[in-house]
Amino acid sequence: MGTRCEVRAFGPEVETDAALDAALDRIAALEQVLTTWKPDGELAQLNTAAANGSTCGTPNGWQSLSSELTDAVNAALSWSGRTGGAFDPTLGALLQAWGQKSGGRVPTVDERVVAQTKSGTRCLEFDRRRQRLCVRCVGVEFDLGGIGKGIALDRAAELLKARGINNALLDFGGQVLALGSPPQEPGWLIDIADPRDRDKHVMTLQLRDKSVSTSSNSERFFEQDGKRYGHILDPRTGTPLATTDQVTVIADHATDADAASTALLVDPALRQQVAKLASGMTAIALSPASNNQLECWADSSALRSIVKREATVRGCR
Ligand code: AMP
Ligand code: MG
Repeated sequence: MGTRCEVRAFGPEVETDAALDAALDRIAALEQVLTTWKPDGELAQLNTAAANGSTCGTPNGWQSLSSELTDAVNAALSWSGRTGGAFDPTLGALLQAWGQKSGGRVPTVDERVVAQTKSGTRCLEFDRRRQRLCVRCVGVEFDLGGIGKGIALDRAAELLKARGINNALLDFGGQVLALGSPPQEPGWLIDIADPRDRDKHVMTLQLRDKSVSTSSNSERFFEQDGKRYGHILDPRTGTPLATTDQVTVIADHATDADAASTALLVDPALRQQVAKLASGMTAIALSPASNNQLECWADSSALRSIVKREATVRGCR
């Protein structure tokens, strides 16, 4: 998934080492299923079939999915529904139009409109029970970049727990899953980066048995004619989000935290209903303001997990 994965764990050395190896193998295997960066991956093959005209109604229209991909598509479509389409796992054609995998470029209006006709959940039919899917729009492209790291973290954590590792911190490109806590500590310390300079930290959370996901459009972007274009798109307009906000979601499951942080960045109105999106879910939003300050918004449960903040953070008290 084009990023680093770090795992720290406490337990008896030999068992812990073996469990960590197994967890990293599990993540690598999932990557092969969920990524669109490797052409021989399962999701990439599905996109190739859709590009070649295998649509619902054609003889090869229904594509069989592995259990892993069925579960991932199910989770992604569920999050699309819960967020009114702000989270959209079918916007791969739009991401391509914006050159998101090839350094970035601004598409013409026509290119963008064509890509929009190939995006959206109306472009597919999903049969979860029979583990299959067909597409209604030629060229629709799935992209699970907004949820895949979370899914991989949840599966890796399940594996660690099944092997008796109950205290571990998994960090997958900024998506974190905190299992238990370090010895004699109430929880793991998780730093939140400054959206204006990701090498700096402006806040620290202390959490146990929670996952934390942060999304911002300053994380990955390209520049053209002096303007910045980030990697998260608003499916309603087909353009990269203009916001400079950063959203952190804390949830029981990494899959939910991952999808929700992307969605809450796309549609700020969802922040007010974060607790309704999934049980135990809370959020913190940081918005760059004047005088080098960061405006902070957090719901009351998220406030309790903040153990340290820089003076430049205003609000959230
Ligand atoms: P994240 O870093 O988890 O917020 O995910 C960002 C990634 O999700 C992007 O790099 C795209 O692959 C994908 N993406 C972009 N916009 C959206 C969106 N509106 N809904 C779902 N996935 C998206
Ligand atoms: Mg995400």
